[in-house]
Amino acid sequence: MNTMKAAVYRGIEDIVIEERPVPVPAPGEVILKVEACAICGTDVRIYYHGNDRLKPPIIIGHEIAGSVFQIGSGVGGLKVGDPVVVGPGVVCNDCHPCRSGNPNLCVNKRAFGYEYDGGFAEYVRIPSEAVKGGNLIRIPDNVSWEEASLAEPLSCCINGQKNLTLREGQTVVIYGAGPIGLMHMQLARMRGARVGIVDVSPERLALTGQFRPDFTIDSSTTDPVKEVLATTSGQGADVSIICCTAKKALEQALQCTCRGSKILFFAGFPKNDSVIALDANYVHYKEITLLGSFASTLEQMKLAIRYIGDGLVKVKPLITQVVSLDTLTHGIQAVRKQQGLKVVVKP
Ligand SMILES: [Zn+2]
Ligand SMILES: [Zn+2]
Repeated sequence: MNTMKAAVYRGIEDIVIEERPVPVPAPGEVILKVEACAICGTDVRIYYHGNDRLKPPIIIGHEIAGSVFQIGSGVGGLKVGDPVVVGPGVVCNDCHPCRSGNPNLCVNKRAFGYEYDGGFAEYVRIPSEAVKGGNLIRIPDNVSWEEASLAEPLSCCINGQKNLTLREGQTVVIYGAGPIGLMHMQLARMRGARVGIVDVSPERLALTGQFRPDFTIDSSTTDPVKEVLATTSGQGADVSIICCTAKKALEQALQCTCRGSKILFFAGFPKNDSVIALDANYVHYKEITLLGSFASTLEQMKLAIRYIGDGLVKVKPLITQVVSLDTLTHGIQAVRKQQGLKVVVKP
């Protein structure tokens, strides 16, 4: 029997490298060789705080790029060696959100790295419902494995911006200069917006240089509310995107948006610290639109990998560390400590 190395999540702060049998495809299934799997903020939260959806032992990791290794009977349209990314959510197409055109919000969703074993292993089984659902998406030839693994987080940013209706010349302020903030920045630029970025870490802000933000605000030393108002002739931002888990950032964003502006709650907050105070009159009189966003659709995954292939969004500079399965937990720690930007695992 062929065996593989897998990083198995056994519980909070407990990931064990195990030898496991390489999965064998049942009819309708596909086995991928994992070529790259990026570490998501969610993986870090699962590692340190657990997640009710997970029943350990399970292999986490949902930002998967891989090559087709084995194909079960009855699967068409794929051949061994094909490079693909995996749309992580398998949806029912039958519930209210699915029927309303929001499959990312499917109430019966099952996802890699949650209910299915994920990508922190040498091989991953793609169940028949995912193969049939079209969750394997071809990677363009000019895109590297590491870059392809960032298609999933980029697709979530595309989903986040779908209702922002960004226009040329609008001022967008992004709170959080991590990889997600920098993806949002590039997407907003594609729409012709003027984009500024706020972070409490001068080290992180220094890494934004190659993306040439129109302005940066170091909120550890300056008041972002004042700065944003100053740079918009007192009007405030047209759009604010919250890509960090600091309530303070949300409060600041609320204080420096213009009349008729939109605020996107992109980041998830810690379960026990997610309640904020909000002045209803402020939202009312200023006609502020508050938007949420979560996960992405397969269509947005396709768009993401196309943007990467066409060079419209540059993800290579976002990858600041590559680790192996053996050093996965170091990678998780680096993400937690915000050392660098995106960490990718090469099994
Ligand atoms: Zn992710
Ligand atoms: Zn559904």
